[in-house]
Amino acid sequence: MNIQWFSKLQNRLTSLFGGLVLIVAIAVALYIGHAATQIIVQERGKELSVIGKGLAHNLGQTLDERMREVRLLSKRSELVHSELNAPIIEQQLNLVKENYPYYAWIGIANADGKVTATADGLLEGQSVTQRPWFNKGLEGDYIGDAHEAVFLAKELSNETPDEPLRFVDFASPIYSQNGDVRGVVATHASWSWVHNVVQNFLPGDNAHQSIEALILNRQGQIIHPFDAIEDVTLPTDLPEAGQFSSLFWSGKSYLTSVESVDGNDEKGLGWQIVIRQPQEIALKSINDLQRTIIIAGLVVVLIAVFLSYGLANRFSQPIAHLVSVANRIEKGEEATPIQVNTGLYELEQLSHSLRGMTDTLIRRKQKLEESNRLLEERVRQRTEELAIANQELEHSLRHDPLTKIFNRLAFTEALSKEFKRMQRSQNPFSIILMDVDHFKKINDSYGHSTGDYVLVQIAATMKKTMRETDLVARLGGEEFVVLLPDTSENAVLVAEKIKTAVADFDHHKAGQVTISAGIATSQLEDADGEVALNKADKAMYQAKESGRNRVKVWVG
Ligand code: GH3
Ligand code: MG
Ligand code: MG
Repeated sequence: MNIQWFSKLQNRLTSLFGGLVLIVAIAVALYIGHAATQIIVQERGKELSVIGKGLAHNLGQTLDERMREVRLLSKRSELVHSELNAPIIEQQLNLVKENYPYYAWIGIANADGKVTATADGLLEGQSVTQRPWFNKGLEGDYIGDAHEAVFLAKELSNETPDEPLRFVDFASPIYSQNGDVRGVVATHASWSWVHNVVQNFLPGDNAHQSIEALILNRQGQIIHPFDAIEDVTLPTDLPEAGQFSSLFWSGKSYLTSVESVDGNDEKGLGWQIVIRQPQEIALKSINDLQRTIIIAGLVVVLIAVFLSYGLANRFSQPIAHLVSVANRIEKGEEATPIQVNTGLYELEQLSHSLRGMTDTLIRRKQKLEESNRLLEERVRQRTEELAIANQELEHSLRHDPLTKIFNRLAFTEALSKEFKRMQRSQNPFSIILMDVDHFKKINDSYGHSTGDYVLVQIAATMKKTMRETDLVARLGGEEFVVLLPDTSENAVLVAEKIKTAVADFDHHKAGQVTISAGIATSQLEDADGEVALNKADKAMYQAKESGRNRVKVWVG
């Protein structure tokens, strides 16, 4: 039988359980993934914020310190009182420069914009009237945002050869005792300072974490790192300072936090620190977690499939057993026991009911078989009886009920047959027609029953006298006939013999009774057997007329 795979109970249950567990596992993985994403985005966002805050704070403090240092320098008595090109001033400048390794240049310009003193003697005597730090520095404290080196590019060695030498300028006015501006003291802090601070704030294993720190100026342009100035396009929806969010940077998702550098007043630089980390790396732990859940889920699915296969087997086995038992019973093995011991109430009830149903069906079948058998027996009996009745009917149709010898019908049929046989064989047959003499007297004298008795005795005498092959029949009343096949000459002898035997018989009350007989032999030219019978009849009348108790042969 071609059974569809899914139509089997066991396969269906297994698929159902397996599918259910798989759906639950996927749902759990998705839910945990979703929930964990929220948590991790928050956690990682805060971590990036912490890095950004630290970096912003450190940069802000350093900017403040440098500015304070320059301001304090401008207030030193040497700068207030001495000539601006005095050696003592150069000494002071050298001292300051040695104290802070990132100072690329430190110097003083007089009120006319001429450099009068510098550490290391660089740019001395040059005019700086075009430099912003000089012009702004005449008016008050000044911090100049990152710019490429103008005069000093050729003079100083570059620690970062991939990018141009860049400085942040700090400048402060030098006042005389009476408050006139004498000049400007300024420092150029090398950008490598920012490099180092950023490196210090990024995690040690940053190669794996890919966290990037960008510095934006007041105009929102990238100023660090140098290669990002051209390569990175800022998203338009950057979060507010102190916030973080998940953003697309040129189609790639980044977790992004923004912080303001301290001292973002008008005099400050208005820097913002943007920390970003590719989302896929930030959420890597979630992907790992999801993978783990899915693998665990698949293992659970396998176990569930295995267990449900076993469980389903427990359900389907007894059903399959019941099916095979039912098939065996159907094929005639009625004694097959129906027994399932599963401990499952419904299945045991089913087996019990099946047993009951089978027993009832078997009982009905046996009853039906028994009644069938009885019916067949009755039919057989009836058929037999009918055959006997038919035989009897057939017998009575052709026999005389009183004398038990053949009747007229039997004789007529035999005569017709004998006539046909004669036509074929050319051998004639003879007929002896006999009538009891004065029979009416017997009836009249001794009663009808004695007459019957006489008729029975005469018939029996005739039969006894005849050959087996000769046919004796009662034509009606007290008239008898004998058909002698293949006989022509000895018909007279037979008739005489009968006549004698009848005459010799003693009928008790009725005494001796005689018969008259007429004989005729068939002729080949006769139309039928009746011709010979009529001739015998005529011969028999002749015998009556000639005195009775005699035999007459018909003569044509
Ligand atoms: P005959 O010598 O001329 O033949 O005279 P018969 O008296 O024999 O002839 P008839 O034909 O006058 O009478 C025949 C009688 O036979 C008449 C009838 O009552 C009687 N008979 C016919 N059939 C039966 C029968 O079956 N039983 C009895 N008991 N009598 C019968
Ligand atoms: Mg008669
Ligand atoms: Mg008679």
